[in-house]
Amino acid sequence: MTNHKGIPVPLGSRESLRCEGCGVKLQTEDRTKLGYVPDQALDKEPVICQRCFRIKHYNDLSGTTLNQDDFLAILGSIAATDSLVVHIVDLFDFQGSLIPGLQRFIGNNPVLLVVNKTDLLPKATNLNRLRNWVQREAKEFGLRTVDVVLVSAKKNAGFDQLLERMDEYRKGRDVYVVGATNVGKSTLINRLIRDYSDLEAELTTSPYPGTTLGLVHIPLDDGKSIIDTPGIVYRHRLTELVNKQDLPVLLPSGALKPKVYQLNEGQTIFFGAFARFDFVKGERQSFTCYMSEALKLHRTKLERADELYAEHKGTLLAPPVLEHLEELPPLTKHAVRIPQGAKMDVLLSGLGWITATGTFAADLVIWAPKGVKVAIRPALI
Ligand code: GDP
Repeated sequence: MTNHKGIPVPLGSRESLRCEGCGVKLQTEDRTKLGYVPDQALDKEPVICQRCFRIKHYNDLSGTTLNQDDFLAILGSIAATDSLVVHIVDLFDFQGSLIPGLQRFIGNNPVLLVVNKTDLLPKATNLNRLRNWVQREAKEFGLRTVDVVLVSAKKNAGFDQLLERMDEYRKGRDVYVVGATNVGKSTLINRLIRDYSDLEAELTTSPYPGTTLGLVHIPLDDGKSIIDTPGIVYRHRLTELVNKQDLPVLLPSGALKPKVYQLNEGQTIFFGAFARFDFVKGERQSFTCYMSEALKLHRTKLERADELYAEHKGTLLAPPVLEHLEELPPLTKHAVRIPQGAKMDVLLSGLGWITATGTFAADLVIWAPKGVKVAIRPALI
């Protein structure tokens, strides 16, 4: 065995070895403590502690994506197991990030629904109300969930509860983690691995993480594993269609700042050149846009909207800029009617949503790239 400079280290000097990943003093005695490295791994190069090994390999192995068929084959294989399924969804694109038909694929295994990115909601959001909303919407979607956990991987919120619930519902079984791409699955699992010393103890055990069929096995103390599945790419989410350079514009960086527009019928709002909202008919009323702050909104007259788009898409109306615009499918129309008395959101999957107060009925036309999911739902906020 050699040290980090390649100089042979006598066996007796092992105690003074440091991890080449994080610099912690290595030890082979207590796998629940920092610096633990299994005896046999001391002969590997470079010598790193098990925690670094796990993080390194998780990062190498996570972030793989799959097409629908391969993904469904993996989901289908979960049906034959006895496990807990943790389904991570993105609060910013709730309906767009749920896995259609999940329940059919995974058989009788219970689903714990983890709603990530709660940091995007305004601070005053009532979490109980939100949980009820999530439960109703998930049920509407055909998902039977044992429980709902609200988390923010970014802000480190809701983790204790997530660990508690996972432990409660897995009942000594494996845990499969499933989700669409960009819901924050990698961020969440990295947080689980890095930040929680309890889990740290729970996770620190051999065998090492490994993959089969693109599945990352993160070993648990009781011989079971957390199994991370590849993220599924849904082409009904705008985030999966845009050029990677435009993705940061779509993904909100912090708590959503609602933009309120008082509109008369015959007015239009453009969301960059990604989408368009026409208020076709109805009394003057307000519409509230919940989108990334980085996205530029442009208000105009409906009668001018076609012309404006033709002349200024990719320039005044951007992003996407012209060269990226060509990568997007053409905008197609969706007619939406908001009845009086119903406070509703119009969701554009991956872009955000627009809330209509329902003070008056409203006839809307939404233009979104062909294939992008447009849906209405009871207002989230
Ligand atoms: P994955 O494709 O599901 O593994 O998603 P990633 O972990 O790569 O995250 C996708 C994007 O969402 C990245 O830009 C993350 O920074 C962001 N993200 C992940 N978790 C959160 C969160 O809790 N809050 C917010 N606001 N963004 C998040």
